[in-house]
Amino acid sequence: MDLSSMSQQPKELTPFQIHKQRFGAAKPWHAIQREHRVDTEVSMSRYSICEGCPSFLNITKQCKECGCFMKIKTKIDTAVCPIGKW
Ligand code: SF4
Repeated sequence: MDLSSMSQQPKELTPFQIHKQRFGAAKPWHAIQREHRVDTEVSMSRYSICEGCPSFLNITKQCKECGCFMKIKTKIDTAVCPIGKW
């Protein structure tokens, strides 16, 4: 059996890798910690990008990719867009 070909196959992500990809280093409790908040300009800029994104659910203001409530997530310094838009 040729093991070198196995390393070239796409690997499934672990639950931890999926979490990192969706949320970055953000934790839910960062939303209530002042030291983890970004400036209002940054959060408004992020939210504006989300509002124009096809993955944005306008009714609940959630992202379809990560399930987060974007009015909160956009304010956290360690948060990232799961598809790299901000
Ligand atoms: S976090 Fe990214 S994928 Fe989700 S709604 Fe905002 S821009 Fe779109």
